[in-house]
Amino acid sequence: MCPIDLRSDTVTLPTQAMRQAMFECEVGDDVLREDPTINRLEETAARMLGKEAGLFVPSGTFGNQCAILTHVGSADEVIVSEGAHIIQHEAGGAALIARAFIRTVTPSNGSRLTLHDVESRVRTGDDYHCPKTRLICLEQATAYGELYTLETLRDIHQMAARHGIPVHVDGARFFNACVALGVAPNELASHMDTVTFCLSKGLCAPVGSVLVGSTQFIAKARRMRKVMGGGLRQAGFLAAAGLVALESMVQRLEEDHANARLFVELASQAKGIQASRQTEINMVFMRVTGSPRSESEILAELTRRGVLTYAPEFGEWRFLTHHGITREDVQLAARAFVEATGM
Ligand SMILES: *Cc1c(COP(=O)(O)O)cnc(C)c1O
Repeated sequence: MCPIDLRSDTVTLPTQAMRQAMFECEVGDDVLREDPTINRLEETAARMLGKEAGLFVPSGTFGNQCAILTHVGSADEVIVSEGAHIIQHEAGGAALIARAFIRTVTPSNGSRLTLHDVESRVRTGDDYHCPKTRLICLEQATAYGELYTLETLRDIHQMAARHGIPVHVDGARFFNACVALGVAPNELASHMDTVTFCLSKGLCAPVGSVLVGSTQFIAKARRMRKVMGGGLRQAGFLAAAGLVALESMVQRLEEDHANARLFVELASQAKGIQASRQTEINMVFMRVTGSPRSESEILAELTRRGVLTYAPEFGEWRFLTHHGITREDVQLAARAFVEATGM
C-alpha cells in the first residue's frame, strides 16, 4: 500500500515535465555566471516578484540565513516572530552565521505579527546601551499556514521604511499565498524588500529556493552565498525544474488548498475534532479533545492505516496537502484520522 503522506509538501517529487527539462537544459559554471538556465531562473523569479535581481540558493533555510547575513552586521537586532521557521527550524543559524541578535516577539494575531507587535520593538540605536534594529523578518504564509493581509504588510513595510529598516520575508510558501489571496506575485512582494521562496515544496521542484531583492542587495548576497559554500557549478539542472515549477505549477496550488479545506470539513464532522487555525493554504492544524486514546496511540493507528503525519506539537495535529495527494486520498485520510481518535 502506498502511504498517504501528509507530513509535508517537501515530499513532492519532480514531475515528468521537470525531468524532461532537466535532461535537456543547457548548463555552465554558475560561479562564473555562465549557466544560462540558472540566469534565466533568477531573471524570471525577479521579474515575477517585481524585484531587480534574484539568486538561486540550495534551500529556503539557506536563503533566509544568507538574507540575514547580507542585511545585518553582527550584534545588530533582527525582529522575528517566535514561531517562525527562522527561530524554530533553522538550527540557530542566525547566531552562528550572521552573529545577529535575534529578538523574538510573541505574535498577537495567531502566528502573525501586528504592526504594533513590530513597531513597539523597533530600537533606533540612539541610546548606545541598546541594540539597533537592522532587519524585520516576516513569513508569508507563516509556518502555520496563515496569511498576512496586504494592508498589514504595507503598514509594517511603511513603518520599517520610516526607520530605514528593510523587511525580509520568508516566503517558503509565497506562491501559495499569492494564489490564496488572489494577488499577483509582484503586488504581494511590493510590500517586502527581500523575499526567499521555495521551489521545492508545493511547486514540486527537487531542490532549491530563490532569494530576490535589489541589484545591490543581490550582488552582496551572491558574495555571502559564496562565503556559505552555496556557489554551485552546473546548477542549471536544478534551475530547469525550477523554471517548470514557476511556469506551470503555481495555479494548481489551488487544488491543494481545496483539498486542505475538504480535510477540515470531513474531519471536523466528528465531535471533538476541530481546526485550530484558519485553513488558508495547504496546511491543516487540528485539535482533538475527549479522545480515549493518547496522541501516540492515535499516531500509531494512523500509520497502520497508511496515513503519515508528524507527532502533534503542543496538541496540534498538522496535515499538509500537495501534488501527490488526491481528493480521494483526503477522504480516506480524514476518515482514518477520525477513526484513529476512537471517537
Ligand atoms: C520549509 C520552510 C522553510 C525552508 O525550508 P528548507 O527545507 O530549508 O527549504 C522556511 N520557512 C518556512 C516557513 C518553511 O515552511
